[in-house]
Amino acid sequence: MDSGMVSKIEKARRYAEEKDRAQFCAFEVKFRGEHSDHVVRYNKGVWLCDCHFFSQRQVCSHTMALERILDGMLCDQVVENPNPA
Ligand SMILES: [Zn+2]
Repeated sequence: MDSGMVSKIEKARRYAEEKDRAQFCAFEVKFRGEHSDHVVRYNKGVWLCDCHFFSQRQVCSHTMALERILDGMLCDQVVENPNPA
């Protein structure tokens, strides 16, 4: 392996320890609930879930669980790409 790759791997290892470097801005999750699977989406601070409870309350056990899992790693706005192609 070349030295360039070795230093990138070492940097990645260090970055992975510093979780505040990364924030999730938008994603889709397949969530295995107690009774059935649900699709949960997150985009710019807005949660969506396909379960019945969410459709009535705009929050549910699935979105709350993911907030706990991703504690401190959610961004509430999409970051503009500083280096557009
Ligand atoms: Zn739900």
